This record gives sequence, C-alpha cells and structure tokens, in this order.
Amino acid sequence: MAYSIPAPINAPQRILLGPGPSDTHPRVLAALAKPTIGHLDPYFLQVMNELQSMLREVFQTTNELTLAVSGTGSSGMEACVVNLIEPGDRMLVCINGVFGGRMSDVATRAGAQVTTLERGFGEIFSPEEIAEALQRVQPKVVGIVHAETSTGAWQPLEEIAKVVHASDALLLVDCVTSLAGAPVEVDRWGLDAVYSGTQKCLSCPPGLAPVTFSPRAVEVIERRQSKIASWYLDMSMVRSYWGDSRAYHHTAPINENYGLHEALRLVLEEGLEHRFARHMHNHRALKAGLQAMGIEYSVAEGQQLPMLNSVWVPEGVDDSGVRSQLLREYGIEIGGGLGPMKGRTWRIGLMGEASTARNVLLFLAALERCLLDQGMSLDSGVGVAAANAVYRNGE
Ligand SMILES: *Cc1c(COP(=O)(O)O)cnc(C)c1O
Repeated sequence: MAYSIPAPINAPQRILLGPGPSDTHPRVLAALAKPTIGHLDPYFLQVMNELQSMLREVFQTTNELTLAVSGTGSSGMEACVVNLIEPGDRMLVCINGVFGGRMSDVATRAGAQVTTLERGFGEIFSPEEIAEALQRVQPKVVGIVHAETSTGAWQPLEEIAKVVHASDALLLVDCVTSLAGAPVEVDRWGLDAVYSGTQKCLSCPPGLAPVTFSPRAVEVIERRQSKIASWYLDMSMVRSYWGDSRAYHHTAPINENYGLHEALRLVLEEGLEHRFARHMHNHRALKAGLQAMGIEYSVAEGQQLPMLNSVWVPEGVDDSGVRSQLLREYGIEIGGGLGPMKGRTWRIGLMGEASTARNVLLFLAALERCLLDQGMSLDSGVGVAAANAVYRNGE
C-alpha cells in the first residue's frame, strides 16, 4: 500500500493559561521564521552578543558567564548542577515540590552527596531552617526553587542568599517560572548559578535555557579537579563559543535563538517594573474573581506566585472534566495538580503574554459555565464582577 503522507501541521489557536508553555507574541513567531544561517556567521555572532547583553538586563546582573543553553529549562538545571558539582561534593537541595525533587535527582546523578530539606507542597523555606541545615551539612552548593510551578509557592531568596554565603556555600536557583514575571535580582541578592526557561514568563517557545554564573561560581568551575560530567553542558567549552574565541562546540539552535532575541526585546520594551506590575495586577484580579466564586488558593496568603495560581478544585467537581471542557469549548488550557496535588488542584498560569485582563475575564466567565455544568451553584457573574472591581479600582 502506498504510504500516505500526514497532513501539514495545523496547530489550533489556544489560550495557554497552564504551567507553560505560555502564549507567544506574533513577533516572536515571526522571528523564528527568519532564514537559518551559519552558527559562525557574523550576523549570528552579533545576535548572540545582543542576546547575552539582554539576558544580563533581565537577570539584573553583570555576570560575564550569561548565555542561553541549548535545551529546555531542565537543561539549565542540569548545566548549573554538573558544572558546580564534582563527585562526592555535598549539596543541600530544598524540596517543596516537583522541581526541587528533580534537582535532587539531577544532583545525585552528577555524583553529589545530596542532603534534602523537605517541606510540604505549597510551603516555603525560612532562612533559619536553611542556616540550621548549613551548619549540619556544610554543603558546597545549596539548591532551591524560586517559583515552584508545581505548587504556586513563591520562595523569597534575599535572606537565604545571605546565610548561604555566610557559610561559604554557593546558591543555585531555579528561576524558570519567575524570570521576567517577578523580580530576579541576581547581583543584588547574590545568586551564584541561576537558570530559567524560555516558555514561561519569557513567552517564547520551549527550547532554550538562559543561565548565569557569578564570578564566584566561575572560579569554582575553573578550579575543578575532575572533568565536568556532561560534555554537552560543559560551560568551560560552551563559553568559548559564546566568548571571543568562538570555538565550535555544538551547533546553536539558530532560529530558537532568534525567537529568544525577539522575546527579550519585548520584555525590555515593556520594562521589567511594568512587566512585574502587570503580572501582579492580573493575578489580583483573577484571585478576586476565583475567591468570589468560592475557590481558594492552595498556598498561604503572601506566598502566592503572581504567574502561577494554584487553587483547590471545588468539592464535588470533576477536575479533568472541567479542564477538558475549557480546552474543547473555549480553547483555554489550564494545568492539573502534580504529585500529591494530582486531581486536587488546578494550576492557572498568567505568564508573560498570557497575563492580560482579557484572559482573566474570559477565563472566569468560561470557568463559571463549566462549574454550572458540573452542578455547582453559583451566583451568575460573580467572578467576572469581582475581577472587574479590581480592574476598575486600578489596584
Ligand atoms: C518548567 C519548569 C522546569 C523545567 O523546564 P522544562 O522546560 O520543562 O525542561 C524547571 N523548573 C521549574 C520551576 C519549572 O517551572
């Protein structure tokens, strides 16, 4: 029988209000479609230089070793861990969700002697408990997640960075979901190795992982006794390609880098402060709407992420039924719970381009319809009205 060639890609239009990827700006999609050129083409080298300088702005750092790793956010995690860890090194990993758990797995595979500090899903760590663990473990590196996308918890870092440095350890931070949606002040806070991803608040398709290493971290990499366990993610080689010598290491994903270039231009055109305020404002409106509908957050007040709203699925409501109705009837994607939260929470992302009043109001109206179909009793329009009250008061 003759082979029948599949139809061309015809992806549907969606509104991505899940844990990522988020909606992409048409300018980013247009940049991705520009001609592929050589990875040593002078034009591409200029793109790389501009990418690095824009990444430094967004990370709020002057770190020289700042670049986009070829791979998704997890490759950024792996790059930070394998470059700092040598077999047998002690690492303290803070786990309060799926991504802290993943970091511990990555560190173990890199040969670290891992000690975990654990908190329930949705909770955060205090500087005091980290200080206590530092005393006990004396680690070389402490790993922590700034924005736990699996739980919606927002981990403050500034005080923790102080206690980590007081004990001479390095602080490795997951900023995959926070970068470009909430402040990540690498230099002022004193973060040593930070990674992110393109498809959360940067609103670029998945495929690259921005990373930055402090001079202290670079020194640790340069003083290593053993080879970095990963050839692909070896920053001592990758940085020669991004630096002056332009030594071939691997072929940069050319068009992905174009997309990130445009996404960063959009971030900087808006301005970091405005962008953070927009995320916060839409979060407040969404939250007012959800609470008016009787839906509660699964994270304590004051620790809730603006770009990832984790809420309890109301009693008697079918988690996946609502999510599939939202997708089928309104083209809206939201996320379900992960790990112990599976079936119990919804994760509503308002990331980057998707953080708009239009999406908040549409989502609340669509959710009301789904909940009514589930037999929940709701006063008509309460969610939208409460969100509108926030918008009209300009809070
Ligand atoms: C999404 C995410 C990751 C993993 O990124 P991928 O792009 O899926 O590899 C890591 N950490 C956090 C906090 C995330 O939200």
